[in-house]
Amino acid sequence: MKNRLKRIAASVSAICLAATFCTSLTASAVTLSPNTVTPKHGTFWNSYWHSNYGNIVLDYCRSNQDHQDYLYTPGRNIRAVSTSSFHDIISANYNDVLRVYGSDYQISQAGQCGLYNAEKAYDFLSTNGYTYTEPLYIAINDFITHSHTGDGARENAWAADNTIFLGMGSTDTTKENATGFNGSATDIVTHELMHLVTGKEIGWIDYGAVSTETTALMEAYSDILAELADEQHDWKFGATLFLNNSPAKDYCYRNIACPSATNNPDAPNEHYCTTYQEFTYFMAVYPNYQNFAAAGSTVISHAAYLMHEKGYSDQTLAKIWLKSISKYTTGTNAGFADCREAFFEAAVEVLSQIGGRYYIAQVFDLMSAFDEVGIYSRT
Ligand SMILES: [Zn+2]
Repeated sequence: MKNRLKRIAASVSAICLAATFCTSLTASAVTLSPNTVTPKHGTFWNSYWHSNYGNIVLDYCRSNQDHQDYLYTPGRNIRAVSTSSFHDIISANYNDVLRVYGSDYQISQAGQCGLYNAEKAYDFLSTNGYTYTEPLYIAINDFITHSHTGDGARENAWAADNTIFLGMGSTDTTKENATGFNGSATDIVTHELMHLVTGKEIGWIDYGAVSTETTALMEAYSDILAELADEQHDWKFGATLFLNNSPAKDYCYRNIACPSATNNPDAPNEHYCTTYQEFTYFMAVYPNYQNFAAAGSTVISHAAYLMHEKGYSDQTLAKIWLKSISKYTTGTNAGFADCREAFFEAAVEVLSQIGGRYYIAQVFDLMSAFDEVGIYSRT
């Protein structure tokens, strides 16, 4: 999620290959056992659900092999697992499947909550044209890693090797930038799932192996689908994660509706651009800046916000953005102009099917959002 810990994600990437050797819980090995989960206030459960949905039914399974209950959703093939830590490197324990009735109440509660949001994220992508076909893991992390600002990996979320790592949140909940459980927020979990999607489909995995503009595109795609999937629809990425937030403080990681107004208590001096010209100027003036991925991502995600403001539905926009992932020809060297081209091709394809007779007018209406943030075609 954040550039600082992206490096840890890259390290994790090298040692998590064991996931591919894990056996999947197959349909014959499990019995579906729907369970009602009562949403909790505060750390684990987003209070929005409690007031709007009441109890939540989470499907999970009982294994016929060892008669243990697992946090696992059949059909989607998503499992919750725990983590281990060695010298500040967090790994998933793929064969230590998190048990619903495990001895650690905190971990099992977080597992239910994280799995619920992973189901939501997975289903949102699926119903809008992209199904994640690999086994998906949710690794609930309660280990602290060294960080200048706090508990490190415990306050972060990241993605690697079919796994979404979700930190349990701050140990000191009174500090200003304290976070809750990272799996409690639909937008955070969807953001991380999108990193797995763009990694798998375009090879956008490691910041160090792609162009600067590609790093910004990586974060933008994750933020855009995160906000389209988020029931709170505030276009403020991560707003619900900060425990000491309030309307007056207006904390979030990125304010996509108004990037320059972002109030990120975790990184108060960071910069978020609104136009491509602002981004290129910023890169030229501050070449050693540490987080161009976040600074540039808001140019693209703000264009998506402007499209939404034109009145197009979340589903239509999600279908086009997801389809555009298959249109890149530049891979790990993709720039903002390539994004415009990919989006255009996807918009023609999607809207010609659902947009009706005047779909070409709709395509150009959407493309005007790219004009507004200063991204034009190469030709
Ligand atoms: Zn990210």
